[in-house]
Amino acid sequence: MRILVVEDEPTLGRQLRATLEGAGYAVDLATDGEDGHYLGSTESYDAIILDLGLPEIDGLTVLDRWRKEGRDMPVLVLTARDSWSDKVAGLDAGADDYLAKPFQTEELIARLRALIRRASGNASSELVAGDVRLDTRSGKVTKAGEPVKLTAQEYKLLSYLMHHKGKVVSRTELIEHIYDQDFDRDSNTIEVFVTRIRKKLGTDIITTIRGLGYSLEESDPANA
Ligand code: CA
Repeated sequence: MRILVVEDEPTLGRQLRATLEGAGYAVDLATDGEDGHYLGSTESYDAIILDLGLPEIDGLTVLDRWRKEGRDMPVLVLTARDSWSDKVAGLDAGADDYLAKPFQTEELIARLRALIRRASGNASSELVAGDVRLDTRSGKVTKAGEPVKLTAQEYKLLSYLMHHKGKVVSRTELIEHIYDQDFDRDSNTIEVFVTRIRKKLGTDIITTIRGLGYSLEESDPANA
């Protein structure tokens, strides 16, 4: 899952990036409205955290432009403390949620997880495919109740597929959603990650769709 943070306060921006990376997200950081708008218009994000008070272009205008361009990713706006008018304006401009500054990063991450889940049609914070379970709160994966150790990149890839279970996900889409913009992207590494995940999960829950990508299907453990 890949997140864009648009925040002009350098310390807060760096903190958010570090915290979100620690929580297993690929993160891009923009420090003004122009850069933020550009990234949100041209890159693929699973959610965006948008400060409203930004240099160059203010956050509300950025959000309004994305929505007019048809960009429908979930957006959580950061508002000034106790500014109800900011909250109303943010929601009216197409925000999916808001959080007033200062906030607890735990709350921000919980809201973000919920936004991403809802956007992909998952109501529960635990994602299930066959006997494989992925807990989006703890970042833990189990197979038939036994813990499975995944690297950060393997987790990102599996998490993306589990959020989009039953759909065919191309390599390009995976690359766009598990790496930040500064990462040296190599589509061959995706195949390597998939092979490792299959090995670790001991079952072929990820199906290769020749020429199209991958699909994670609900396998029946009884027939596995
Ligand atoms: Ca600001």
